[in-house]
Order: sequence, then structure tokens, then C-alpha cells
Amino acid sequence: MDHFLYRDGALYAEDLPVTEIAAEVGTPFYCYSTATLERHFRLFDEALEGTDHLVCYAMKAASNQAILKTLAAVGAGMDVVSGGEYARAKAAGVPGDKIVFSGVGKTEDEIELALSGGIRQFNVESEPEMAAISAVATRLGATAPIAIRVNPDVDAKTHAKIATGKSENKFGIPISRAREVYALAASLPGLDVVGIDVHIGSQLTQLEPFELAYNKVAELTETLRADGHNIRRLDLGGGLGIPYERSNSAPPLPVEYGAMVKKTLGHLECEIEIEPGRLIAGNAGIMVSKVIYVKSGEDREFLIIDGAMNDLIRPAMYEAHHDIVPVQEPEPGQEPARYDIVGPVCESGDTFAKARDLATLEAGDLVAFRSAGAYGAVMSSEYNSRPLIPEVLVKGDQFAVIRQRPTYEEMINRDSIPAWL
Ligand SMILES: *Cc1c(COP(=O)(O)O)cnc(C)c1O
Repeated sequence: MDHFLYRDGALYAEDLPVTEIAAEVGTPFYCYSTATLERHFRLFDEALEGTDHLVCYAMKAASNQAILKTLAAVGAGMDVVSGGEYARAKAAGVPGDKIVFSGVGKTEDEIELALSGGIRQFNVESEPEMAAISAVATRLGATAPIAIRVNPDVDAKTHAKIATGKSENKFGIPISRAREVYALAASLPGLDVVGIDVHIGSQLTQLEPFELAYNKVAELTETLRADGHNIRRLDLGGGLGIPYERSNSAPPLPVEYGAMVKKTLGHLECEIEIEPGRLIAGNAGIMVSKVIYVKSGEDREFLIIDGAMNDLIRPAMYEAHHDIVPVQEPEPGQEPARYDIVGPVCESGDTFAKARDLATLEAGDLVAFRSAGAYGAVMSSEYNSRPLIPEVLVKGDQFAVIRQRPTYEEMINRDSIPAWL
């Protein structure tokens, strides 16, 4: 459930008509709902009730400072994958001991930043990275808490570009080599081996791949404990999917996921961490765009809108589906019209949907892309010199612009001209 619903024929974000926000900030823009963000965080938190746990929001899904502060205020930790994200989490007031650092290519500068500022744990993805963390920690006279990300070689049954748990993926160390790598970790200075980490992919729509992976983690926990390692924390990654296509998909609920976690791992008495991103932010955001032209092609109608692939790249990058709805609800019984929905960018890939049935629309009408809160604004660019679109956060009947649309001048002035020109 989210808080983008029709009331009297108009789409609302919580208690605000979307048209009202559009009139003030202009289109296109991203709009997030505070109540939905908080609700989704709580669903996970409650799903793990009864176990010692921390929900670390995977902030790469949507990392605006206002979103981070909203989630931190209800108790979220953060999962970061870069020095920039670490700095964002700290700037939003998240204490270091609630920040987990993931990612395959942490640089020495990033490691130092996190060790100096405080870190809950590094999720280590390779032996050379482990050596680097050990070296930096030793140099700083610090101890780095680490978990080692194991690759359990399970098929997450998701889109190939977001599957991470097969042996051919670049992530983690093969679970078959785990004992050897944990032994190496125990022998290096400056490291405190606290646990095991696993993350098999994103937009998973079944529990089975998680369960396969977590059973392997349970077995590994016992093996590593028998080897003398004090395994006390299990980081289970993120990845639970959302219903992008409301008419025909129903991924597992956080409560079902939580029950499975307790069933597979509860007996180990470890602290549980999870790192959901998409499920917290995805349906908490929409992208609102305006129809510029309706163009008749030879055998189809194109809806040319002012949002484009640079603003929301998921359809172009992952063939992703987004439900697209008119902001003015169609009259009941109105015949749908069929459109290819495209943006103005000079690429054929700038297509959001083909042959999509929608209400009959005209230039000037607004549409909303549902489920655009995760991997939306964060993946946007200024390709075609289209300024980054604004982000807006709604809370009840209030809204605030949480990232301004830059002017053309501000965009251009980010470049600098060498002395010889
Ligand atoms: C991307 C990522 C997540 C979040 O995945 P979602 O599908 O958004 O829940 C969690 N952990 C790691 C290590 C990731 O790379």
C-alpha cells in the first residue's frame, strides 16, 4: 500500500493534489511520500520483531538527505556503497555504528573515511580488499569490524543485470572458499571478524532463492564457529521485490520474509541485519510528467512527455515496467487509448512503454509513473543537457522541494574553461 491514491478523480500524494505540486514546481519532478517511506521501514522492522536486528536502508535506492533523515528518525541504519553515500548518511545524522559499508571496490580513501568517522562494519568482497582494510586500520591504529560477503551461487530468478548471487557475478567470495578466507581474515591485524554477509540480487519476487541462500549461510555459520570464529552477526542483504505491475504481481510481503529469516537462521542467535532499498523507497515515490505532444505515427500514437530516460532510466536500462497513470482519473467507462510513451531524448531507447492502454490524453495533461521512488532520481543524469529534475517530499498536506531544479546557468557553470580558451 502507498499514499498515492485518487480522491474525487484527482491523484493525491498523501493529502495534496499532485496538480497543486506540479503547478508550483513545474514538471517533470519526483514526489515522495513520508508516510509510505515510514510504513515500509516499519514493515521490515516489525517483521524481525523478537530478534536482535537492525534494518539498514540501502540508500543507493534513493539518497536525498530528506529521505535519509526521514528514515533515520524512525530508527533506520544505512547501507552505503561509496564514500559519497557514507558522507550523505553522516550528514543526515546517522551515527557511524548504524552504517554498513558494502560494495566491491572500496578505495583506501573511502576505507579511511569510514574508519575515522565510525562504522558498524565493512562487508568485504575480496581478499585484496580485506588486505587494504587491514592496512588502513593498522595505519590508523583502529580495528575494523568486518563481515565477509559470500556468494552462495543461487539463482535469484531476477533480471540478469540485478542478479548478484551466482558464481559468474563479480560479488562476494565463493562460499566454497569461505573457510580459507575467514582463516586469512583472522590472521590479519586490525580486523575484527563479526559475521557473514550475503546479498543475492534485487527485485526478487519469490522467497525460495533467499531461503536457499540463507540455509547455506546457516550451515556456514556453524562451520565457521567450529573453526573458532566468533560469528555473531548475519547481514542478509536486500532484494525483496515490489509489484511494479499492480494488475499481475504479488511479491512476498516483508512479514513473510521475516518469518522465513527466523525459521532459517533464528536458532543461531545472531544479530540480524537486512538491507532493503527498493521495497522501502520504490512505491514511496512517483515521477510526474506532462504530455508535450500527441503525435500520430504510421501505425501508432506516440505520447511525447517532458520526462525522459535521463530522468528515469529503468525502462531503457532494464526493460523495466512502470505503471503510468493519468493524474486526472479517467471517467468510468471511457474507452482507453493506446500509446507508445516516449521522452524527448534523441535515442530510440528513450521509450517508457509500448502499446500501453491509457486514458485519452492531450497536450498539457499530467501522468504519474508509479513505483519510481527507488533507482529513479539517483540514476538520473543531465544527458541532452536536461537539468536534473526536482525532488519533492510530501508529509500530510505539506510539501517541500528537497532538491531544486538547477537553472540552465547553474548547469552550465559547473563546467570551467581552461586558461587557453
Ligand atoms: C543494492 C543493494 C541492496 C538493496 O537492494 P534492493 O533490491 O534495493 O533491496 C542491498 N545490499 C547491497 C549490498 C546492495 O548492493
